[in-house]
Amino acid sequence: MAWGTLLADGETVDRYRGHVLERGPDACWWWLGAISDTGHGSFRAGSHTTGTSRVVPAHLFGYRLAHGVGALAGGLVVRHRCDEGACQNPAHWLAGTRGDNNRDAASRRRLAGHALADVRGAAGRARAVQAAIAAADPEDLDAAIAAALAAGNPGGAHQDALF
Ligand SMILES: [Zn+2]
Repeated sequence: MAWGTLLADGETVDRYRGHVLERGPDACWWWLGAISDTGHGSFRAGSHTTGTSRVVPAHLFGYRLAHGVGALAGGLVVRHRCDEGACQNPAHWLAGTRGDNNRDAASRRRLAGHALADVRGAAGRARAVQAAIAAADPEDLDAAIAAALAAGNPGGAHQDALF
């Protein structure tokens, strides 16, 4: 089914938006729906209006929703400036090539405390954040998310110095 059909379907757009924890302009907007093995959000796009449906990566739907159905022509991929694959903040997205993406990931993966160095893997990290969001009091959300992120980098940059 074509992206244009899915993007024009109000039920699909509502379902997408209903799974995004929208926060401040600089924060990551966490996906609250299904998480793929690669740590990306995914959801079933389509409704009784479109007749059929298919499971799509959430950020690819969201990117087109923000920039138009033709935004990723020519084989471009959506890159996350924040390196959180589940993030749905349009300000954290950048269209690029697969080569750009692989090069960035290879260099950042070595940084201590970085998202890509998470010992739980990308999917485990995203699911841990979702669990923290579900369990947190709304007023403690930022701290709960920060703690869930830090837990994946036990030897990382955010650990307190021992001496
Ligand atoms: Zn982000």
